Amino acid sequence: MDIKKRIKELQDELINLRRDFHQYPELGFEEFRTNKVVREYLAGCGLEVETVAKTGVVALLRGGLPGSTVMLRADMDGLPVREENDVPYKSLNEGKMHACGHDGHMAMLLVAAKILSEMSRDIAGNIKFVFQPNEEDAGARIMIDEGVMENPKVEAVFGIHLWTPLKSGQVGIAGGAVMAAHENFQLKIKGKGGHSGTPQTAIDPILAAAGVIQAVQVIQTREIDVLKPTLIIFGKIQGGTAPNIIPASVEIEGSIRYLYDGNDDSEEQPKRRLERVIQRTCEAYRADYELKFIPSNPPLINDETLADMVKKVGEQVVGRDRIVPYVCMPGEDFAEFQREAPGVFYFVGVGDREKETEYPHHHPRFNIDEDMLSLGVEMHVRTALDYLAKVK
Ligand SMILES: [Zn+2]
Ligand SMILES: [Zn+2]
Repeated sequence: MDIKKRIKELQDELINLRRDFHQYPELGFEEFRTNKVVREYLAGCGLEVETVAKTGVVALLRGGLPGSTVMLRADMDGLPVREENDVPYKSLNEGKMHACGHDGHMAMLLVAAKILSEMSRDIAGNIKFVFQPNEEDAGARIMIDEGVMENPKVEAVFGIHLWTPLKSGQVGIAGGAVMAAHENFQLKIKGKGGHSGTPQTAIDPILAAAGVIQAVQVIQTREIDVLKPTLIIFGKIQGGTAPNIIPASVEIEGSIRYLYDGNDDSEEQPKRRLERVIQRTCEAYRADYELKFIPSNPPLINDETLADMVKKVGEQVVGRDRIVPYVCMPGEDFAEFQREAPGVFYFVGVGDREKETEYPHHHPRFNIDEDMLSLGVEMHVRTALDYLAKVK
């Protein structure tokens, strides 16, 4: 099959799918309409289709010849953002928006599934098309727990994020750590309330909180190699009721991100270091603390060999000069699938100043350069075919 030609024939269908998803964005685990559209399309391709993890979808293509099983994944959820774009396909669900490009991810993977289905007789192995709900929070782990990696067992995983920080037509690929591990934390610093005129009778949690916030900075700047990107950011602080009262406690929330593979039990872990600094600082101020971590996703680690393979596919699709190495600090729960099987997550650039698609992800004016969707389809199709041909 002439893949490029077939994608061209399906160009209108591709754009229409994306715009339809864009008009009806749904939040995580509420993707019921989206689930229906995805299931019907995949069933129309003659695939075995199942709902997994409440609103997720998995479809299986069995090739005509025996071989390995590869997974291609798209995410499905929109965001609680009020769209400010003035486009004919503007969100019809008030206060919700596909402001991260997941509408485009689904459209690309659906059209890729159609093309691969048309070639299924000649394919050696199986392809699983996975549509994951609730990426912005956490959805991959639930799909895994419900068996998405089994029957047949998935041997490699691939996923794409459309990305406005990259110029239209560029494809960002790197081996190793590509997106950061991310955990939020809640910290309560407990002192003893009292009168601001007699602070010696109280234990001031505001002073202890200030001490902790300052002291924690030592982790990034003095304890961890600066070439290992680590972020500890405080996003919320609350405490006290009046200027002349020492409050009993202060509540702080923040997030930790780091861009390297880390063993959770090691003393080197930034979160272990964070707790140590909090504990010792509170001790110095005679305060107590409670600390709770809320894990979001592990670091996203690309397999080096498979990343080289995807780079070669990319050179074929967009040309060598448009393949760029790319890593960034946001998190992505595709990382969960990569804990089960080696894989590659990579970026297709959709940022174009003239088309006004340079707004950051999650912005009310976020939009993608739709002309790049066909590149994503071709990357999906060729990556799956290349992988299955190589491991045969
Ligand atoms: Zn997002
Ligand atoms: Zn996203």
